[in-house]
Amino acid sequence: MKKILLSTPHLTGNEQEYINHAIESNWVAPLGPNVDSFEKEIADYAGSKGAVALSSGTAAIHLALNLLGVGKGDIVFCSTLTFIASANPIIYQGATPVFIDSEPETWNLSPTALEKALIEAKKNNKLPKAVIVVHLFGQPAKLDEIISICSHYNIPIIEDAAESMGSLYKGKQTGTFGEFGIYSFNGNKIITTSGGGALVSDDINALNRARFLASQAREPEIHYEHKYIGYNYRMSNILAGIGRAQLKGLDERIHLRRNIFERYEEKLGSIKGIKFMPELKDTKSNRWLTAFTINNTDNSMSPSKLIRFLSEQNIEARPIWKPLHLQPVFKDCQCYDHFEKENFSVSLFNSGICIPSGSNLSFDDQDRVIENIKKAIVEDSYGKNDR
Ligand SMILES: *Cc1c(COP(=O)(O)O)cnc(C)c1O
Repeated sequence: MKKILLSTPHLTGNEQEYINHAIESNWVAPLGPNVDSFEKEIADYAGSKGAVALSSGTAAIHLALNLLGVGKGDIVFCSTLTFIASANPIIYQGATPVFIDSEPETWNLSPTALEKALIEAKKNNKLPKAVIVVHLFGQPAKLDEIISICSHYNIPIIEDAAESMGSLYKGKQTGTFGEFGIYSFNGNKIITTSGGGALVSDDINALNRARFLASQAREPEIHYEHKYIGYNYRMSNILAGIGRAQLKGLDERIHLRRNIFERYEEKLGSIKGIKFMPELKDTKSNRWLTAFTINNTDNSMSPSKLIRFLSEQNIEARPIWKPLHLQPVFKDCQCYDHFEKENFSVSLFNSGICIPSGSNLSFDDQDRVIENIKKAIVEDSYGKNDR
């Protein structure tokens, strides 16, 4: 039985042409015409004034923090329910993360918790230098509310749209609402360059500065002249070629992933205790990963039991991201909760599961996932899965 994975690279067939062209013209070094074109195409797609192609999404977050002047001793707020790459660059800059809980309608950064945190920060004279807002699994966060709170305190927003490229909030692309937005082209994301990322913004000067910092901060002199510490964060011309082909396929990939989500929801949504990830009104998620929660009071099945059962059937499933404030490496960091006495991201972590959602997942494979989840839950109700 073939292994069904969560999300694998899905090539369009046109990548080779761009790669060949890059090799034939000897643009194998970093930078080159594919990089320039890819940047323009990303900006056009997103509707931002510009984009910088980089070696990873993590590098893009790091540069965004640098450009906002985040440094030693500063505080940066960040969604707690996310992949660790959202927060690691805060530490690279010598700053301290403060985590913000999720809310039930998007599973993303809670405006309620954000406001609580900002009121307290203001009182203590410790306002954050930036807020990193994540659009989890492709679902846009409550941007209107978040932007209104942040502008009241004059705090810039970095949108971590690594998982949400192509997702819309009120018809506008995620990644274009904050001072900076970032995308990831890692192998598991909705489009990939095998590894890569992008920084988008309407601030052209800041993007030029990002290009400079990402190229070892080399001054425009004939010899090697350096006045600042930079990074080696630029994307290669070959990988940008893969990205150009992939970007042309993005809308189709979103369509396919949304169909997969809808099919799962249609076939599994009526099982008692199962609740699929919501989609906020006036938003359109790219449905990068299909996720749902299992409520233990309706159903003795738990995410860990279901993941084990599926793994025995050669199907990869995973818990949703472990909240960062629960990570040992961030154990001393503060987290502001959405509810009075409960952290919502922790209850999501305890009840949530992601199932295979790749845009190249065949109908047969989708059916195998669906049938096995049904089987796991039926057998569980007879006590067969209590191992
Ligand atoms: C993948 C991901 C990143 C990091 O992107 P890389 O390109 O792998 O560095 C950042 N944030 C989130 C939410 C992600 O899922």
